[in-house]
Amino acid sequence: MKPLKDWDNLKNGFTFRQIYPSGWGSLSGRPHLGLDKIAGAGTKLYMPFNGKVEAHDGIQGGNCLWIFPNGKNIIIRYMHMLNRVNNGNFKEGEVIGQVGSTGASSGNHLHCDISQGSVQISNINNFIDPETFNWETKQGEQMSVIEELQKACAEKDQTIIARDKTIAELQSACLTKDSVVEDLTQKNALIGKDYKNAITDNVKLKKKLDILTNKPNNDLGANWSLLAWIKSTIKKINERK
Ligand SMILES: [Zn+2]
Repeated sequence: MKPLKDWDNLKNGFTFRQIYPSGWGSLSGRPHLGLDKIAGAGTKLYMPFNGKVEAHDGIQGGNCLWIFPNGKNIIIRYMHMLNRVNNGNFKEGEVIGQVGSTGASSGNHLHCDISQGSVQISNINNFIDPETFNWETKQGEQMSVIEELQKACAEKDQTIIARDKTIAELQSACLTKDSVVEDLTQKNALIGKDYKNAITDNVKLKKKLDILTNKPNNDLGANWSLLAWIKSTIKKINERK
C-alpha cells in the first residue's frame, strides 16, 4: 500500500528530480531525490509492504525510517517523522510512524524516496520516482517503460476505435439521409406526373362538359359546323333517291 492513506489527494512539495532553489544550503541546485507529500503533523504513516525497518537519524532527514521490503531489491525511506517505530519487522498496513517536520524541513510533510539496491545519494538515476512506482502490486516494482508504452498504446487504440465507430455511424447516417432524399425525389416525380395527368384529364372533361351543355366552343365550333354540313348533305342525297 501507499505510505499515506490520502496519498493521491495530498499536495506535493518538492517532486522527484525538482531542483532545490537557493536558500537550501548544500542542497541548493541539486535534484530532490524523492517526493514530498504535505500532510498534518501526526498523520499516520503505513508500512507499504511486509519487511524490515531501520531507524536512522540525520541533520537533513530528521527522524527517518529505512524500509526493506521482503524479496525486493529496493529501499524506501521516510523522513522528517514526528514519531516512528524502532527497528524490527512489520507487516504491510501497520502504522510505523507519523508525519512531522524534523530535520531540514520547512513544514509538516513526508519525504519519501525509493532506491534500487542501495542508497546512493549522489546518483539520482538510482532512485525511482515514488509517483510512478507501483505501490499497489505485490511485486512493488516500478512500472517498466515497456508497460507504460503498452498502456499508452492501448489508450490510443481505444481513441482510434472510438473515432472509427463515430465515422462509421456518420457514414451510415449519411446513407440513410441519401436514401430518404432519393425516395422523396421519386415520390415528387410521381406526384408531378399525376398532377400533369390530372390537368390533362381536367381539360378533356371540361371540353366534354362544354359539348354536353352546348356551350359555344371556339375549338370545336368548326367541327360542329362541318359535321352539320355532312349530315345535311347526306340527308339531301338520300332525299334525291
Ligand atoms: Zn523531500
